[in-house]
Amino acid sequence: MSTANDKLAWIDEEIKALKEQGLYINIRTIQSPQGAWITVDGKKVLNFCSNNYLGLANHPKLREAAHKAIEEWGVGPAAVRTIAGTMSLHLELERKLAQFKGCEDAISFQSGFKANLATIPALVGEGDVIFSDELNHASIIDGCRLSRARIVRYNHCDPADLEAKIRQEQGNYRRGIIITDGVFSMDGDIAPLPQIVEIAEKYNLMTMVDDAHGEGVLGRGGRGIVDHFGLHGRVDVEIGTLSKAFGVVGGYVAGKKKIVEWLRQRGRPFLFSSAMTPADVAACIAAVDILESSTELVDKLWENTRYFKSEMRRLGFDIGQSVTPITPVMLGEAPLAQEFSRRLFDNGVFAMAIGYPTVPKGKARIRVMISAVHSREDLDRGLEAFAKVGKELGVI
Ligand SMILES: *Cc1c(COP(=O)(O)O)cnc(C)c1O
Repeated sequence: MSTANDKLAWIDEEIKALKEQGLYINIRTIQSPQGAWITVDGKKVLNFCSNNYLGLANHPKLREAAHKAIEEWGVGPAAVRTIAGTMSLHLELERKLAQFKGCEDAISFQSGFKANLATIPALVGEGDVIFSDELNHASIIDGCRLSRARIVRYNHCDPADLEAKIRQEQGNYRRGIIITDGVFSMDGDIAPLPQIVEIAEKYNLMTMVDDAHGEGVLGRGGRGIVDHFGLHGRVDVEIGTLSKAFGVVGGYVAGKKKIVEWLRQRGRPFLFSSAMTPADVAACIAAVDILESSTELVDKLWENTRYFKSEMRRLGFDIGQSVTPITPVMLGEAPLAQEFSRRLFDNGVFAMAIGYPTVPKGKARIRVMISAVHSREDLDRGLEAFAKVGKELGVI
């Protein structure tokens, strides 16, 4: 019970305000492994929510690799790598990631979020400037704040505005970096990386792209946005996550040898937090091996994406401007999106409503995440549910 002088009473008030504004997050409970179908709150539903783009989160080869690694290496790394030494397993993953991405070297972190927190403050600090896309991911924003560099936001995916902002800053900083998401996770659009790189070269700025939703998706065999645009060697830092298409958990930086060496000396989450577990690392190695050996899963992901999107358009839905498997179904007001999501769930489809402040007011949507694990029948089941609920609610 909270009383008038309860020092934690403010939490009750904040929570109450969140609930009143419809911003309180109710987290669903999953009682099965990830896959096309999952059990959510006791009900088997078609999964349109996860970032499991290639279906690797419960892939037999990854499971087997994790089991083997536990037998061979145990369950924990036991300390940070700089103090207690690093297992050769982690170095093997980093070598494989660098090779896969076509970079000189790579360094792994505990998550993509940590990779951003490690990298940005290591590259820029007081007296420096960061040019940051206004819609960059929260972990980039936090990394920028931690760095104490000045943050200049440029208009979303707008190279002309970026260049204008850089010109305004000329002579006012020591070092500068341009940072952008590769794929923007709410709209599925991608950064104009070739123009950004040209501008960076013109003004002698460092470049960093967060490829969390691009790897395993864009480029040859899922090699990511730099490969997609053929910009190898021209982007200084690629941030990656091992929790989306790779299906496990962890993060990494791929880039020039010099930068990776610096991060091993100065990336704080590397220096002060223990490494990924052997089972995670081994499963990630298996994931990279699968992607190196065949483009089958990536091809299937795109085939599913093309099919689902063209059918959704045929049904009359507005699915925005996405050029990736992320499919926003634009609905307008948040209550409508929430009601749509509830009815989809009643019809056996798990797809989340996303509203303000994650997306602008009036741009609420259902975000469908397509995966290579979906069969044609699965997609048809999903389309059927969208058509039914869309008609019920007068959207189509
Ligand atoms: C998901 C995501 C992250 C965080 O990755 P984790 O490995 O889950 O911490 C970072 N950046 C972007 C752009 C993302 O979409």
